[in-house]
Amino acid sequence: MSREQKAVERARKAFLTGRSKSLEYRITQLKNLLRFVRERQNEIAEGLKKDLRRSEFGTPLYETLGLESEINLAVRKLKDWAAPRPVSKSMMTISDQVYIQPEPLGVVLVIGAWNYPWAVTIGPLIGAIAAGNAAVIKPSEVSSHTSKVMEDLLPLYLDKELYPVVTGGVTETQELLKQRFDHIFYTGNGTVAKIIMEAAAKHLTPSTLELGGKSPCYIDNNCDLAVACRRIAWGKYSNCGQTCIAPDYILCDPSIQDRVIEEIKKNIKEFYTEDPKKCLDYGRIINERHFKRLMALLEGSSVAVGGENDESECYIAPTVLRDVKPDAKVMQEEIFGPLLPVLTVSGADEAIKFINQREKPLALYIFSSDNKLIKRMIAETSSGGVLANDCLMHFSVSSLPFGGVGNSGMGRYHGKYGFDHLSHLRGCLIKQLKMEGVNKMRYPPHTADKLGW
Ligand code: NAD
Repeated sequence: MSREQKAVERARKAFLTGRSKSLEYRITQLKNLLRFVRERQNEIAEGLKKDLRRSEFGTPLYETLGLESEINLAVRKLKDWAAPRPVSKSMMTISDQVYIQPEPLGVVLVIGAWNYPWAVTIGPLIGAIAAGNAAVIKPSEVSSHTSKVMEDLLPLYLDKELYPVVTGGVTETQELLKQRFDHIFYTGNGTVAKIIMEAAAKHLTPSTLELGGKSPCYIDNNCDLAVACRRIAWGKYSNCGQTCIAPDYILCDPSIQDRVIEEIKKNIKEFYTEDPKKCLDYGRIINERHFKRLMALLEGSSVAVGGENDESECYIAPTVLRDVKPDAKVMQEEIFGPLLPVLTVSGADEAIKFINQREKPLALYIFSSDNKLIKRMIAETSSGGVLANDCLMHFSVSSLPFGGVGNSGMGRYHGKYGFDHLSHLRGCLIKQLKMEGVNKMRYPPHTADKLGW
C-alpha cells in the first residue's frame, strides 16, 4: 500500500469514528490551527523567504492575517452555520418540520498551489474542518520550503489522522488522485485541472477548481489616474505578479496611455526604489522555468518601464509594456509575473467587447468615477469576481464568495461559502404519523370522485 493510500485510509477511518462531527471538536481543531499560525510565524516566514523571497512583513500581510481572520470567523459562527436551517412551508407541509441540515461530506483532498502557499492550502482546509470533514492536505512541491514546514509542523497542532499532510510532486499527487475522496479542492492551473476532473470522474467526486486567467483592468478616462495607477501598481507587482487575481493587462483610451504609464512608473519607484532588485519588498520569480517563460512572453512587445532581469536570481523588474496588440505573445496566456501590458481601446464599449471575446477571467477590475459605467460593465461582462476602483481587496472580504467561472474555475469559498461548499446541504422533511385523512387523494385507486375533479 502506498504512503498516499495509507494516509487516505487513515483519514477515512478517523472520519468514520465520527469525532470530526462534534462541533466542539471542530472548534478545538480550528483553534489549534490558529495557534499554529500565530506560534509558527517565524518558520512560515522563513519558508516563504526561501521560496519567493517574501519580505518579513509580506508574510502576515499576504498570508497569515487573512487566515487568522477566516479561522476566527469560523470559530465564532460555526454553531450558526451548522445549525438546522428552517425553510418556508406550503399548505402541504404546514404542520411538518422542514429544514436543511448541513452535514460533512467525508474525506476532502486539498491540493494547493505555490504562489500564496498558505492562503490557498490552509484557506480551503478551514472550510473543510469547519464543515466536519477529514482532509488530506497536499501542498505544492514548487514552494518546497513551505511544503516542508507544513509537513513538519502542522501535525504538531492538528489531529494527524483526520488532517494528514502528504508532500511530493506530480507522481504523489497522481497517486492521491487514484484514491476515492468525497470532494477535491484544487488550486492551480487549467491544464492540471483537467487531469483532476478526469480522476474525480472515476469516483464521481465533486470538485472545486480555483484557477486563474487573464484578469482585465479597465481604466476609464473619467477617473483619478494617480490613485488608480497606485492601486494597480500595488495589485500587479505584489508577490512579483504571481497572484491569481493580479490585474493581467490594462485597457485604456489612447489619450491616457502615457499618463497611465508615467503614474505606474512613479509608483514602482516609490514602492520599490530606483533599484527594485535590492528592495526587500520586491520578490522573485518562483523558479527558472517560470523566469524563462516570462522572458519569452516579452518577445515582440515594447518595454516602457523596467525590463531589467537577472536569471541567476530569477529577478525580473516591475515592467510595463506599451501599445500591446491583442495578438502579442504576452496576451496569449495568463502572465503570472511582473509584466503589465497596456492595450488601447476606444472606450468602455470596446473594452466590454474585448473582455467578452475572451475566456471568463477570475477577476475584473474597473477604475472609474462613474458609478453608472461601473454597474453597466458589471452587467455586460462575466468574471469570477469584480472589483471597482481597487485591486485584490475582494479576496479579503469573507462575506463575498471567492471563486472562478468558466475557464477561471468552479466552486467558491471563504467564510460561510467555504463551509457550505464543503458540506452536503441535506433537505429534511419530518412528518407525523397523524392526520392520515389528508393523504387520501394520493393513494390509488385514483377516481375523479376522490380527487374532486
Ligand atoms: P503548482 O504547479 O503548484 O500545481 C498545483 C498542484 O498541482 C501541486 O500540488 C502539484 O503537485 C499538482 N500537479 C501539478 N502537475 C500535476 C499533474 N500533471 N498531475 C497531477 N497533479 C499535478 O501550481 P500552478 O498550477 O503553477 O499554480 C499557478 C496557477 O494557479 C495560476 O494559473 C494561478 O492563477 C492559479 N491560482 C489560482 C488561485 C485561485 O484561488 N483561483 C490561487 C492561486 C493560484
